[in-house]
Amino acid sequence: MPALADHARQMPRSGIREVMDLAWSMEDPVIGLHVGEPSFATPEHVLDGARRALDRGDTRYVANAGIPALREAIAGKVAARNGLEAGPAQVVVAAGGMQALYAALSATVGAGDEVLVPDPGWPNFAMAVQLLQARPVGYPLHPDDAFLPDPAELGRRVTDRTRALVVNFPSNPLGSVLPTDLAQRLCRFADEYDLWLISDECYDAITFEAEHVSPARYDEQDRVLSCFSFSKTYAMTGMRVGYLIAPETVAETAAKMQETLIACVNAPAQHAALAALEGPQDFVEVMRRAYHERRNAAAAQLDAAGVEYLLPHGAFYMWVDVRDRCGDDVKAWALDLLRERHVAVAPGTTFGAEGEGWVRISLATDTDDLLEGLDRLAAVAAG
Ligand code: PLP
Repeated sequence: MPALADHARQMPRSGIREVMDLAWSMEDPVIGLHVGEPSFATPEHVLDGARRALDRGDTRYVANAGIPALREAIAGKVAARNGLEAGPAQVVVAAGGMQALYAALSATVGAGDEVLVPDPGWPNFAMAVQLLQARPVGYPLHPDDAFLPDPAELGRRVTDRTRALVVNFPSNPLGSVLPTDLAQRLCRFADEYDLWLISDECYDAITFEAEHVSPARYDEQDRVLSCFSFSKTYAMTGMRVGYLIAPETVAETAAKMQETLIACVNAPAQHAALAALEGPQDFVEVMRRAYHERRNAAAAQLDAAGVEYLLPHGAFYMWVDVRDRCGDDVKAWALDLLRERHVAVAPGTTFGAEGEGWVRISLATDTDDLLEGLDRLAAVAAG
């Protein structure tokens, strides 16, 4: 057999998948706090959007960049909710936020380039960079800086090959949100080093006691590319619809590149997304409130047990500190927790080397399971 491509062989496997495989192989029921999937059903009016498209026979190829009505509705959404002035020509509908991110990277980053990615950060950032045969360079987020990026520290990682900085707020796995002044400083940082600023905002609708801030609001030089998703906001992860907002020339290029990957997002899913934007939004608030309540319940439980954590102000994850308990191998600790207490959590090192000693738990789990799982975790973590 001929050799596999080097960059394909070197692609790391997601640590969450390892936990999932073990959880699936176990005979006893497992409490799953490891996966970021809303526990809510997709709203009926969203499903109806797809059903109507199917009934009409709307099952053919559509434009690479998405159906015009959806691009128009997305432009309206980002204006109303994110404060972004973007015309439909700046919208590229993608197969989920993941592919919006890939569309942004594939239009701007080439083989051998370097891309700054958060550590801890969603592992797919580094993986997508690697898929382009570029090099992910982690920038550390420290507990002492409230896990926010420090432009001075970012600057020390820039080389003449650096092309882009990836930021993610609300953050997976940290739940941190972006303060306005930092959004401004990150834009000026990108200006100073002539970088693309790729902003993953897939959890923009899920914040607690805080507003989501889109860095593109402060973009003075057409260098911010913003990635959004329908997955989490409307509990439609399997529909695979997200979008990129970018300057027109970047959007055109990203749409052109999309031809080779997916050609276009499947039409009924785009009609579901359109129904999601045009229909009632109260469901989004119901889910957001549920995550907020779960966050408060989880925090109270961990406080009572004396386990430290980072209080999330967005997304639906909690970053829990088990440094005193896990030695220097949190992955082994998480696998033991699963084998012995039947609770699955995501080991922090899945999100980068800076995650050693931490675990991520998902608040997207049903409340009873969440609290029972945390009880078992606390029994081990608090010793
Ligand atoms: N970005 C972040 C930070 C995520 O956590 C996820 C999913 O977990 C995504 C993007 C992609 O979501 P999707 O491709 O389902 O839109």
